[in-house]
Amino acid sequence: MDVIEKVLRDVKKRNPHEPEFYQAVEEVLTTLKPVIEKNARYRNIGILERLVEPERQIIFRVPWVDDKGNVNVNRGFRVQFNSAIGPYKGGIRFHPSVYSGIIKFLGFEQIFKNSLSGLPIGGGKGGSDFDPKNKSDGEIMRFCQSFMNELYRHIGADVDIPAGDIGVGKREIGYLFGQYKKLKNGYEAGVFTGKGLTYGGSLVRNEATGYGLIYFVKRMLEENNHSLKNQKIIISGAGNVAIHACEKSIQMGAHVIAMCDSKGYIYDEDGINIETIKRIKEVERKRISEYVKYHENAKYYEGQKNIWNVKCDLALPCATQNDITLDEAKKLVENGVKFIGEGANMPCTNDALKLFLENDILVAPAKAANAGGVSTSALEMSQNSIRLSWTFEEVDTKLKEIMENIFETTSNSAKMYSDKNNYIAGANIAGFIKVAEAMLSQGII
Ligand code: NDP
Repeated sequence: MDVIEKVLRDVKKRNPHEPEFYQAVEEVLTTLKPVIEKNARYRNIGILERLVEPERQIIFRVPWVDDKGNVNVNRGFRVQFNSAIGPYKGGIRFHPSVYSGIIKFLGFEQIFKNSLSGLPIGGGKGGSDFDPKNKSDGEIMRFCQSFMNELYRHIGADVDIPAGDIGVGKREIGYLFGQYKKLKNGYEAGVFTGKGLTYGGSLVRNEATGYGLIYFVKRMLEENNHSLKNQKIIISGAGNVAIHACEKSIQMGAHVIAMCDSKGYIYDEDGINIETIKRIKEVERKRISEYVKYHENAKYYEGQKNIWNVKCDLALPCATQNDITLDEAKKLVENGVKFIGEGANMPCTNDALKLFLENDILVAPAKAANAGGVSTSALEMSQNSIRLSWTFEEVDTKLKEIMENIFETTSNSAKMYSDKNNYIAGANIAGFIKVAEAMLSQGII
């Protein structure tokens, strides 16, 4: 049995009932074969064995009082996965599906994404099974304060820097940061990213993941003699990543025809009106079904997964993990999809990815393609350190450069170790080598 098979077997045994974590590890490790075979150095010092075990996992009680005076208890998580190249960095997710397997898969992915960004940040992730839907502002605030009452002792600007993710946007980050500041009795702006602009946030951070995804996809298409202009696009999700991916796609002349939330999808042959989506989702916080009230040619269909039946050139899954399973992938392939851009983390199952590669469909993998968010978070940390704020254009230009660099790194490593168009292997290998070299230099810790 080779080392990769052995590590995979051990991961399954040591982390039972955590299929998402195993899936993420399997996806990375199976692509590392050529590097591991060539480098006895990595095998001799147990790089893989150490890489799949988080440096630290924190699980804690989060008690809070709802508007009726009832006491509720949720579970909080922070997984500090790998600090070889910098302090732990990764978002916080509030969603009822959160448990240790989800946070570990996200933390594991974050190691390679942060490495690819070229910036000095390690990998971590956190969250809670708290459901922010249908909660009052006061309930959200009390929950965030209680969450931070424990988390604060484990984070810091040079230790671990959280940000947002599903269910954690500007409002939640404000409450979390406020409570941290109160508990620490000091203004440590660099402890959190995704902050509001009035208290240390960066311009473009809000748009960064979605914009970055499109900058990456644009380069991938160009390398293969295509352009975004007039491509028919469908996007799953109607949150932060999906909205800004849609906005940038439209700016680049593409035609976005469908979007969804967790209940259903809208189809608008005239092209999605992004201002309407923003109003419904960001201001009114309502369902996407409302869209058809404002656009008479648009149609709403129940069932989020059915969005993948829509014929398109480019599919951008920007909602959540395992959105595209083998069944959805088959539908997309039958309908002639040419490109996939992963905006969400691990939105395609491993067999779906395999099918895409077998059918010569170009895949922009999440670790590389959605790294614009964390990269701009690192730019926010830089601005906090030097106590200056850059303009929108300055940050956007840096984001574009970072995404282009990530594309070049991914593409070069695909050419060197795998097939020219296997950007999945390219991203995993390039992300891995930097972390492995840093771990090699730092001894067995
Ligand atoms: P948001 O909470 O802003 O939006 C999530 C969107 O996805 C919503 O439209 C939501 O629908 C939908 N969604 C969530 N869960 C499900 C589900 N189980 N089934 C179907 N639809 C679902 O999150 P973000 O846009 O921030 O994050 C989206 C993805 O991008 C996640 O995988 C996240 O990890 C990843 N990501 C985010 C980054 C960021 O900067 N925000 C950075 C890098 C990756 P509804 O409103 O109905 O729940």
